[in-house]
Amino acid sequence: MKYKALIGLEMHCEISETNTKVFSSAENSYKGIANTNIRPIDMGFPGTLPVVNKEAVKKALMASMILNCKQPEYIYFERKNYYYPDMPKNYQITQETKPAPVGSYGEMKYECNGEMKVAKINNIHLEEDAASSDHYASYSAIDYNRAGVPLLELVTEPIFHSADEAVSFLETMRSVYQYAGISEADSKKGQIRCDVNVSIMEESLDETDPKNWGTKIEIKNVNSFGGVRDAINYEIERQTEAKEDGTYDSMEQQTRRWDEESLTTIYMRSKVDAIDYKYFIEPNIPKFKLSKEWLEEIRASIPPLAGERKEKYMNEYGLSHYDATILVKEKSISDYFEECISYGVSEKDVSNWITSVILGHVNKYELEIDKIFVTPKMLADLIQLVGNKTISSKQAKEVLYKSLTEEREPTKIVEEEGLKQIGGEDEILGFVNEVLSEHPEAIDQYKAGKTNILDFLVGQIMKKTRGQANPAMARSMMQAEIEKR
Ligand code: ADP
Ligand code: MG
Repeated sequence: MKYKALIGLEMHCEISETNTKVFSSAENSYKGIANTNIRPIDMGFPGTLPVVNKEAVKKALMASMILNCKQPEYIYFERKNYYYPDMPKNYQITQETKPAPVGSYGEMKYECNGEMKVAKINNIHLEEDAASSDHYASYSAIDYNRAGVPLLELVTEPIFHSADEAVSFLETMRSVYQYAGISEADSKKGQIRCDVNVSIMEESLDETDPKNWGTKIEIKNVNSFGGVRDAINYEIERQTEAKEDGTYDSMEQQTRRWDEESLTTIYMRSKVDAIDYKYFIEPNIPKFKLSKEWLEEIRASIPPLAGERKEKYMNEYGLSHYDATILVKEKSISDYFEECISYGVSEKDVSNWITSVILGHVNKYELEIDKIFVTPKMLADLIQLVGNKTISSKQAKEVLYKSLTEEREPTKIVEEEGLKQIGGEDEILGFVNEVLSEHPEAIDQYKAGKTNILDFLVGQIMKKTRGQANPAMARSMMQAEIEKR
């Protein structure tokens, strides 16, 4: 029998681009010393009251709009009641039951292996993050700096069929969050966490009918997209084996976790006796109506996202699909590119230098493009030196490598090392004549049809000038001179 997988994602992403936390005036950042970035409410002290951060609601609504979701008439929050040491209030303020979420029933296009697909969104809601715990040999420590950081939870329908599709969607969402200025969406900082739901069903059955779906297995808190990929592949294989040996149909809904060490999913608990969170409306936050004007204002403020920038790079700047795709993959790269062209150098030149030398360096040393020594301005200056023929592009390449590794400004390197392209016709003609007088036999050979001797002669000029002659000029002047003789 052939089976197909159904995969649904719950993607948590912290909103990092607000000044303060979602219900408290503490700074929205959990950098720095543990337990310093907190207010009484983050610690669950009695008598404290939440105040909604308008900016966080705005960013959440923006995400809802980008996902083509329906926005609610009223914003309100709910309490999800449970006990855990990382949550001193004994409840999390969230938006769970309908119609509370900032967004419901949307759709999002994404590209997977060159093909456009559509993901169906069930809902996106705004909530507060919990504190973080660090586990040591004989004790655990809790850092409340993270408590109350605004968090978006995006829930998809079980619409994906493979790890590739799921991960492509997650990458698209990371890019959306970055470009829209909602979040840095950095998995390494723990800003993105995913729950992955996987089941399998017979391939021939209709997957739009939930009756045909298999038993949902939930894998909690996967921290990286690589982990999501591996966990899905592992789980599809495990469930397929269970189908084949006849144990699948007696399997209960369960929660598992992804174990990075054994590269397996490990049973945590059955979902059959799931906790009842006793949701009720958060009484300390009055529900408020969303005005049409505010919603329109938010919609109008959505900046161009990756797809739009990519179109512009291809249609207006004439870049290839391949290069445009590389440039928009990370917002920081696209921003670097755009700053560089703002200094008036050609888009194609900038794209070439970034996709070859700059990204080569960034990838090789696993750096962030906004942290490298060469700024967009320095790259633009270097490109200008090539444009006005002060140096050749070959020299520029060497200068750029040097600048990146030795952390010296490109223009300084050119100045200090006396690099200058020899581009004057008289000067080059001098070298042409010199080389021809040293190799008079080459003229006859060229005329007898051995035209590739030209490469050798130009090479001699380059050698004499230590690479500083303009090679194209040297070549055409050499050819003209031979034909004259
Ligand atoms: P819960 O309340 O247990 O979290 P939901 O029905 O809200 O369950 O679904 C949570 C996630 O599980 C969603 O992303 C949804 O798409 C996914 N899901 C639901 N049923 C299945 C299934 N049979 N197979 C795979 N994923 C599923
Ligand atoms: Mg769930």
